[in-house]
Amino acid sequence: MLTVLTVIEAREKILSGLGFRLPAERVLLADAAGRVLAGEITAPSDLPAFSRSTMDGYAVAARDSFGATEAMPALLDVTGEVMMGTTAPAPLKSGEAMRISTGGMLPAGADAVVMVEHTELLDEYTVSVHRAAAPGENTIARGEDLRQGVAALPPGHILRPQDIGLLAALGCTGAEVATRPRVAVLSTGDELVSPECEPAPGQVRDINTYLLSALVKQTGAVPVPLGIIPDSPQALAAALHKTKDCDCTIISGGSSAGVRDLTADAINSLGKPGVLFHGVSMRPGKPLIYGLAGDKPYFGLSGNPTSAMVGFLLFVRPLLLAMQGASELQQLLWARVDRSLSSAGGREDYVRAILYSKERELWASPVLGQSNLISTVVRGSALLRIPQDCEGVEAGEKLEAIEI
Ligand code: AMP
Ligand code: MG
Repeated sequence: MLTVLTVIEAREKILSGLGFRLPAERVLLADAAGRVLAGEITAPSDLPAFSRSTMDGYAVAARDSFGATEAMPALLDVTGEVMMGTTAPAPLKSGEAMRISTGGMLPAGADAVVMVEHTELLDEYTVSVHRAAAPGENTIARGEDLRQGVAALPPGHILRPQDIGLLAALGCTGAEVATRPRVAVLSTGDELVSPECEPAPGQVRDINTYLLSALVKQTGAVPVPLGIIPDSPQALAAALHKTKDCDCTIISGGSSAGVRDLTADAINSLGKPGVLFHGVSMRPGKPLIYGLAGDKPYFGLSGNPTSAMVGFLLFVRPLLLAMQGASELQQLLWARVDRSLSSAGGREDYVRAILYSKERELWASPVLGQSNLISTVVRGSALLRIPQDCEGVEAGEKLEAIEI
């Protein structure tokens, strides 16, 4: 029997039933992008560690420049130059200026930098300043980026390139992140052959092993491809035996309630509680099975590659991120659809579309073609969600979109 849930109910059931969090491991910064932070990062010291110039020019005491104009410049004694990567040769005294470059350390006694464009060097020892500088002007104060002890990144944050840069700035050579989930990927179907084969009449190449493994990788997880499994209970049972040390298993194909569809029975035979639901009111991807063997999640996705992809994005990806303790499980965009779309009520539709921007707004142009054509997801750059209670949308309406 199919127990059909709505998309929201299905996601809630999957996420609320998750019985474990993956342990943390330490990785080097070079390997940390895309990983989920296990603990909070606090700044161990002030960033920057010293007040710095943000311009090429002259370090000055701002009060020495007060009132300076083109007509009435302030004349200051040039007492040297701050070299990059070192301290100033001497503190700055009243009436003095020191050459400084962008990023250079302000000398003691200086609290502003006058841009070189607003100065004129009269001789080797005298500079005329044509514009007053306010205290702090053209400088970053010590600790202005981050103060020692403040939270820099929260636990559950998915590390982006800029976060890796911050960790480097703070002197972290690595980070404590969640272990990557290991995800078994099985493709079932008597008609499937691997991509290097020339398919005989009636056979098709196995797309899902590669499509799903790539999606798993994109989620920060490790795919464990277990190959093509024929439509036989024995073959499926034998393959599922190899999934025991994985954190999650995805079986594609055989998820509808046909005679040859063995996935639900196979999941049930692995242990309690077994299949939790079979079917989600959505299109594509309705025949989706979810079950637990102990605390290990098992997904049965429709074999149609586009349906398998939608099922992965809506349900498998959030679960893999939740296992890693990620605080954000799904990133959504909003886009205006550029023509009207009809939809049957009673299910969520995921329409493949091309995103583009027009007049500073994000628009989506639906891609025509049936969901069982892989070219529709290749041409598309997003999936548009048409809500369950909606029987169509007008051109110009805003819809939720998932980038693909
Ligand atoms: P199923 O879910 O087994 O009923 O399969 C639905 C459709 O998807 C059928 O046309 C299958 O041939 C096709 N299909 C199933 N698995 C794959 C796969 N791994 N690669 C490409 N097509 C598949
Ligand atoms: Mg099949």
